[in-house]
Amino acid sequence: MPTYKAPLRDMRFLLNDVLRISEYSSLPGYSEASAETVDAILDSGAKFASEVLQPLNVVGDRQGCVRRPDGSVKTPDGFDKAYSAMVEGGWMTLSSDPDYGGQGLPRLLALAFSEMCSSANMAFGMYPGLTHGAYSAIHAGGSDEQKRLYLPRLATGKWSGTMNLTEPQCGTDLGLIRTRAAPLPDGAYSITGQKIWISGGEHDLAENIVHLVLARIEGAPEGVKGISLFIVPKFIPDSRGEPGERNQVACGGLEEKMGIHGNATCVMNYDGARGFLVGEPNRGMKTMFVMMNEARLGVGVQALAQAEAAYQNAAGFARERIQGRSITGAKAPDKPADPIIVHPDVRRQLMDCRAFIEGARAFAYWTALQGDLLHVSPDPKVREQAEDRMALMTPVIKAFLTDRGYKAVNDALQVHGGAGFTRDQGMEQFVRDTRISLIYEGTNGVQALDLVGRKLGANGGRGVFSFFADMDAFIAAHGGDERLEPFVAGLQTASAELREGTMWLMQNGMSDFDNAGASSHDYLHLFGLTALAYMWGRMAEAALPGAAAGDRFCVDKLVTARYFFARVLPDATSHLAKVKSGAGAVMALAADSF
Ligand SMILES: Cc1cc2nc3c(=O)[nH]c(=O)nc-3n(C[C@H](O)[C@H](O)[C@H](O)COP(=O)(O)OP(=O)(O)OC[C@H]3O[C@@H](n4cnc5c(N)ncnc54)[C@H](O)[C@@H]3O)c2cc1C
Repeated sequence: MPTYKAPLRDMRFLLNDVLRISEYSSLPGYSEASAETVDAILDSGAKFASEVLQPLNVVGDRQGCVRRPDGSVKTPDGFDKAYSAMVEGGWMTLSSDPDYGGQGLPRLLALAFSEMCSSANMAFGMYPGLTHGAYSAIHAGGSDEQKRLYLPRLATGKWSGTMNLTEPQCGTDLGLIRTRAAPLPDGAYSITGQKIWISGGEHDLAENIVHLVLARIEGAPEGVKGISLFIVPKFIPDSRGEPGERNQVACGGLEEKMGIHGNATCVMNYDGARGFLVGEPNRGMKTMFVMMNEARLGVGVQALAQAEAAYQNAAGFARERIQGRSITGAKAPDKPADPIIVHPDVRRQLMDCRAFIEGARAFAYWTALQGDLLHVSPDPKVREQAEDRMALMTPVIKAFLTDRGYKAVNDALQVHGGAGFTRDQGMEQFVRDTRISLIYEGTNGVQALDLVGRKLGANGGRGVFSFFADMDAFIAAHGGDERLEPFVAGLQTASAELREGTMWLMQNGMSDFDNAGASSHDYLHLFGLTALAYMWGRMAEAALPGAAAGDRFCVDKLVTARYFFARVLPDATSHLAKVKSGAGAVMALAADSF
């Protein structure tokens, strides 16, 4: 069975030495996040993840969820107790608004906790993750009455939340939504239609489930301009706000799927269910995007988290498994063979994982910090910059971290040889579970289109130019420091390549949209690698004093940084070449020749 130990030292290094969160102590949330508080939360969060959630990971995979004939769904053994422990421990309230029972701590800290949950048990972590997403959407777009009624219960996790977008005929293209909303005399709506693949649509963990549903009010315009958002509770709250009458929404079936078996993926049938409009009619996408953007960051972190857990197990296996002799002479002459960690090809795979994971964690945490600044900074300039960064980085975090995270999980499996493919070591579960992260919350292909089609040009390119300025400032500040020379030089090359790719897209993507579409995947990867180079530069700088003092963690950080620049970042050049080759080769074959 796989094991997991939260990478607390790395998390603390990022929060304290790289992002320097103490510098934000005058801001709401950060003022309460003293070093002691952060340490205590990380320590007990790690304990919760590894002692409560991780032991249920294999159970959840093997048992899966079961739909009973009455439509109720039983989650795997132990999930209900773990969920109650999460609610009672206040874990779900970490970053929620104190006005609604939250602790008001930084989202950054909540993200670190969610990383641990996803490493320990990705399928379980989706229930609280979506619940927080529903909380955020209602917080952003709900009426005062809706906030009063739903937020305290969603913030604590007493009630859980779901996101209902997908229908049989509509996945990526939400303009095709058919679910109907008919106005009722009392101001509510009658919701009718079918949603599919709804995560956590029905379960036995919480006393009520709050479905956020996209539907079309009768007579609404076609396409996404005619979509509204509704709250459809499983039990309609009574006058005291307690779960009352059972609503006409039911789970019509559970999907059998490749992974995340512990999470109930439901067909949800709405049969004249009472729904309550959130915000204005036909403006539902705006509020739903609050939930979707939060979930996209969460999905990127899921893949990073799974990669961390898989890597830890691969590293342990590589130290123990003996096979063959080192090509430079025996390293364990007392044994019949050397541990496989001596082989350069095994090292390559472990180092690829490690360089990705640590860089990706820095990137995700840096982005989460922007999410906090966007909400709590008193300075409008800082808020604007944070908003630009969040918007720009969200598709990159979602798609780059999941593409590369999935590769890392596969590398970790490969290190195990046949033991990776068979069940006992649990590596194949990591691969199966992580695979969905490339698909849901908008496929990675669609994230790449979002980056090149919407985010790059937003506000005249303000976001991307400010990202270039961030990197330029780092290069200017540290260019003369020979201890950082390989890192600064590597970042300089990568940022020049990203600029070149961006210019190419601006010049060629507008004149032929197929150029933008065909280049988008490689452009997103060029972007992701450059962002990681910036993060690795900053981590190397932060590790210098510790490394000089002989701190092993900091020495290892610099070693891994060198690996990233020598062995991972060169991929950026190949992505740039593919970006610049445009649509020609991609679109040349006639559709009927496939
Ligand atoms: C386990 C699981 C859980 C899920 N949970 C939820 C949930 O909680 N709530 C919810 O609403 N949905 C959920 N989904 C649905 C998920 O978000 C969709 O599967 C996803 O958005 C893709 O839609 P689709 O499957 O219909 O693929 P399609 O939209 O049919 O796409 C098929 C392929 O075509 C590509 N493609 C489509 N359009 C374009 C385009 N314009 N340009 C380029 N390429 C394109 C896609 O990238 C993809 O590779 C879940 C799905 C699964 C499998």
